[in-house]
Amino acid sequence: MEVLGYYLAVRDGKKKARFLSANLDEKVEEAFRLFEKCELCEHKCRVDRIKGQLGVCRAPPYILLSSEFLHYGEESFLVPSHTIFFMGCNFACVYCQNYTISNWLELGVKLSEEELADMIVARKKQGAKNVNFVGGEPTPYLPFILKVLRILKEREVSVPVVWNSNFYMSRKAMNLLKGVVDLYLPDFKYGNDECALRLSKVRNYFATVTRNLKEAAGDADVCIRHLVLPNHFECCTKPILEWIASNINGKNVVVNIMPQYRPEWKAQEYEEISRPLKVEEWEKAVRYAEELGLNVMD
Ligand code: SF4
Repeated sequence: MEVLGYYLAVRDGKKKARFLSANLDEKVEEAFRLFEKCELCEHKCRVDRIKGQLGVCRAPPYILLSSEFLHYGEESFLVPSHTIFFMGCNFACVYCQNYTISNWLELGVKLSEEELADMIVARKKQGAKNVNFVGGEPTPYLPFILKVLRILKEREVSVPVVWNSNFYMSRKAMNLLKGVVDLYLPDFKYGNDECALRLSKVRNYFATVTRNLKEAAGDADVCIRHLVLPNHFECCTKPILEWIASNINGKNVVVNIMPQYRPEWKAQEYEEISRPLKVEEWEKAVRYAEELGLNVMD
């Protein structure tokens, strides 16, 4: 069965990237409306981001990058991927593997929308198969990202857009992404709200992420990443895989069950995740996903 066919057609130049036919003027306008009383993610801090007020994510009113480069370590159908790491995050995962970004231990580099658009064009010439917006978390920067895409549209540059996110977008932000993103790359971390609050300090996790996943699967291709955590099979891995199987399983949805958990940042303070994942824990997750009939990545 062919999976992710749409994304692959855009990647291989057989179809145009979707943002080229989106109404980006309207989307940029609406995104900046949300920005003024920030409701870009489910935290809904309602701070005036235009004036530089800070919400939970502490993101500034301009593009601030940690880094951007051609990434060869992403999923095989993505590489080389032009990954753009935005500073800051709306989650506070105690085991964050990019904790220097999410906790503002780096200064970051300020860029204009034109400068970032130029970089995307340059990376495409170097062989990038897509532009991969990530962080931290890209959601707090959505208005600027849409402006960058508008510049690329004016220049008629077709490059697949990958939205690499924790999927805690507000309903309104999710609507802005529809018709723009070619491949959603969500993290699906927790199977319940208690684990999400304890380990990432966010509320109403499961309802928010599953709502956005349903919207994403109805809009474009989706590659769900599930990082298996030690001792979280029953509470997280199992309900996550079962939810996918019952709600969005199809040829536009693949699941990457990730084995690379290691106890970074403050993970030592949480006993059950204070060690690396065992191979058999990962194998158990993959086996279960296959039994459920999911499209599991090799
Ligand atoms: S993006 Fe989310 S966390 Fe950041 S200010 Fe807006 S609502 Fe708050």
